[in-house]
Amino acid sequence: MVAAYDKLKIELEQQRSQLLADLAEERSQAESGMGYGTHQADDASLAYDQAADLSFRRNSERLLYQIERALTRMEEGTYGICRQCGKPIDLARLRAIPHARYCMTCASHEESQTG
Ligand SMILES: [Zn+2]
Repeated sequence: MVAAYDKLKIELEQQRSQLLADLAEERSQAESGMGYGTHQADDASLAYDQAADLSFRRNSERLLYQIERALTRMEEGTYGICRQCGKPIDLARLRAIPHARYCMTCASHEESQTG
C-alpha cells in the first residue's frame, strides 16, 4: 500500500465510527418513540422532523457504505484507482474525499449524467 494512504485509512476508520455512533444514536431515539404520538406536536412540524431524520439517515448510510467500500478496496489493493478509467486518483482529491471512487474527470462526467 502507498504510505500516503495510511493517514487516509485512519481518517476513513474515524469517519466510519463517527457515522456508526450517529446512526446508533438516531436509531435509539426513534425506537424510544420520540415524536411518535407521545407528544401532541402539530402534524406539519412532526412530518418535517421525520423527513429530516430520514434524509439524515439515508445520507449517513450512503456515506457509511462508501467508506466501507473504500476500506475494502484498501485491503484489496485497488484503493485510489478510478473505477471508471482505471487511472490513479489524484492524492489531493483523496485527501479531500477519502472515499472517492472516481478521478476528477470521471466524477464530473458522472455528476453531469446523474444530475
Ligand atoms: Zn477516471
